[in-house]
Amino acid sequence: MESVKNIPGTGFGLQQKPIVTGYASLESEEKDNILTLQLSLLEAIAREGDPLDILNRLCKMAEMMLPNSVASIMLLDESGMLNVYAAPNVPSQGIAQLNGLKPGPGAGSCGNAIYCQQPVFVSDTLTDPRWDDLRQLAVDFGLRACWSMPIRSAGQKVMGTFALSSFEHRSPAAFHVALLEIGAYLAGIVLDRAQHMDSLKLLGKIFEYSQEGIMVTDTAQHIVSVNRAFTEITGYALADALGKKTSFLSSGRHDERFYREMWRGINQHGHWQGEVWNRRRSGEIYPQWLSVSVIRDVEGKPVNYVGFISDITERKKAEARVEFLAFHDALTGLPNRVQARNHFDKAKAYADRAGARVALLFLDLDNFKTINDSLGHDVGDVLLEKVAHALKSNIRHTDTIFRYGGDEFLIQLSDVHNGDDVTDIAEKIIGHVVGPFNVGDNELSTTCSIGIALYPDDGKDFDTLLKRSDTAMYKAKDSGRNAYRFYTERMNFEAVEHLTLMNSLRRALEKNEFTLHYQPQMDICTGRVVGAEALIRWNHPELGMVPPSRFIPIAEESGVIVQMGEWVLQEACSAARYWPDIVMAVNLSAIQFNRPNFVDMVFDVVERSGVDPSRLEMELTESVLFSDEGTVQEAIRQLRKVGIRFSIDDFGTGYSNLAYLRQLQVEKLKIDRSFIQELSENPHDTAIVAAIIQMAKGLGLKTIAEGVEDEVVLKVLENLSCDEFQGFLFSEPLPEHEFDALLTARRNH
Ligand code: C2E
Ligand code: CA
Ligand code: CA
Repeated sequence: MESVKNIPGTGFGLQQKPIVTGYASLESEEKDNILTLQLSLLEAIAREGDPLDILNRLCKMAEMMLPNSVASIMLLDESGMLNVYAAPNVPSQGIAQLNGLKPGPGAGSCGNAIYCQQPVFVSDTLTDPRWDDLRQLAVDFGLRACWSMPIRSAGQKVMGTFALSSFEHRSPAAFHVALLEIGAYLAGIVLDRAQHMDSLKLLGKIFEYSQEGIMVTDTAQHIVSVNRAFTEITGYALADALGKKTSFLSSGRHDERFYREMWRGINQHGHWQGEVWNRRRSGEIYPQWLSVSVIRDVEGKPVNYVGFISDITERKKAEARVEFLAFHDALTGLPNRVQARNHFDKAKAYADRAGARVALLFLDLDNFKTINDSLGHDVGDVLLEKVAHALKSNIRHTDTIFRYGGDEFLIQLSDVHNGDDVTDIAEKIIGHVVGPFNVGDNELSTTCSIGIALYPDDGKDFDTLLKRSDTAMYKAKDSGRNAYRFYTERMNFEAVEHLTLMNSLRRALEKNEFTLHYQPQMDICTGRVVGAEALIRWNHPELGMVPPSRFIPIAEESGVIVQMGEWVLQEACSAARYWPDIVMAVNLSAIQFNRPNFVDMVFDVVERSGVDPSRLEMELTESVLFSDEGTVQEAIRQLRKVGIRFSIDDFGTGYSNLAYLRQLQVEKLKIDRSFIQELSENPHDTAIVAAIIQMAKGLGLKTIAEGVEDEVVLKVLENLSCDEFQGFLFSEPLPEHEFDALLTARRNH
């Protein structure tokens, strides 16, 4: 038996277990026959012939070596039954009867070979109990003997049987056993190979038809293969991609670090996945989910990388849409009520920092229900869209509209300082939401009612403000619709007043309703009156004295400020002639300063009044100075050339930076009232004022404190070396003749 280890010419038998048991004892002719059979089959296997052809050939060759017999190969199926695979000379009725044979102790030679997992040699099928279940078959087809050999896979798993059935009673000789053994062995190879090819074909199909794009690269990241889905996703066919580096797909959206991290993941863990933006052949940049794995050889060395790609453009779009709908109204595209609350919190934080207000406008369409009920929801929907559009075009970019539900909208205005800021927008909306809008064949008009609540005046949180703006909206409806109402009554009064003022301001100049008052400015050291600030007063025929803080913003908004300012300058200059030892300070608005002929106008006024320009001082706020550096600075330069002085009004409330102050050629900083008034009690204010004075001194600027109302404050200012002061402590702004009297009294003092 030992000598059988190696079958000459085949290399078989090198495994631990000999394949052919009685090879040494065979006649030389028998050995030749077996060798021929082997070579012939091995050649067919090497040529990758069809497995059924090869096994049919095996059967026929075996039959030639055992005359008066038929050979067959049966295979086990998944359910454990035997079926005929190759049996070229077994009649089809025989095959039909054999198919589905269940292995067992009476299931013939093959059934037993499987059942016992070893060769079975039956010499007399008519008497042998192992043929009990198949006796009829033996009778019908004249089978007398049957020898069956299990076919095993490379992994020694039994796959089926190779059998020789003879038409005469006989027992196998050593040659027959060897023939069956070698036949079963070769059949195992053929079947293994067929299975392997099948799974390769299957893998190939999976590769090709995978929904995911697949690309395989070598270790230098050159593409060696791509599948159909890859081409569909990227637009590149195999021929375009072959040999290219994967980086040719890059979109440029990710930086080097991103790819470094990706390769670190691949090399460290053998795998990486994530979202990557790539570029299609069309140039379009798209998001994909990429999963990369390393393929290694038996020694663990990387040989390939395989990348699985799925296009997630649609998913991303869907996600974005879902997200959008969670925060927006599908019909109008406006942010929804969920967002209103978040937005309010942000606006509130901003307002707190900037000392501003937030206005919440609750808007309800007046006749929407009628339109919806009579013309249908489709018409209603279109109308809502048009209204949303009209609203959008009537707010500032800092304001936001929300669809609150049905025909209700919320509008949040940020950076609001007073009721007038809101009134303007509310009026604009009331004026523009009316339409008419073309909706299908209908021309529709609609009005709206608006309720307004202000933060922090009417409430500190969103819910309170929402409730109050809603209450105010009902007040607007009660007043006859197509109107706006503030939650706070005073605001409503002011809104009406705003309109009245706006209308009467234009005529106020012609009707001589303005006068100037003068407030003395004192030198802190000497106690002498060194200047006067001219402050406008409006004596309204019905409203009485209107403070400038009420009408100056309206004058600026309507442009009346230009003529009004010119009048103030004329009036102040001619008054200044009577008071030759003091400086006349005049307030100027940004709007005046930005007029193209402003400088000429000033020259003209100064010349006509005959006042010495060096006794004229212009008070500008920081915002004017920085509104448009070019024009403003040029104007200041020209005015200074003739000796006019400049001071920065309300200093400390703006955003002046020191470097800038140095460039601007101003004489004086006028420290804002808000820092002065609590100077005696508030150490924080003291620190600020001290710093302003120090800084001014460093820049060679004078300082004046405005709004000084008591002695203690004046004492503090004196200690801080402030140059001048102005305030109720010494005198309120006075009518011309009173101011004149005051000056005369002081002179004679
Ligand atoms: P402003 O330039 O800061 O003027 C000083 C304001 O403080 C004046 O209010 C003045 O009456 C007030 N005031 C003076 N001393 C004291 C004090 O001791 N305590 C308090 N609490 N207040 C004091 P007024 O006259 O109501 O003017 C308000 C603002 O209107 C002015 O602020 C200025 O910005 C503007 N304005 C007034 N007249 C004119 C003008 O002719 N043209 C321009 N463009 N604006 C003007
Ligand atoms: Ca002033
Ligand atoms: Ca001031």
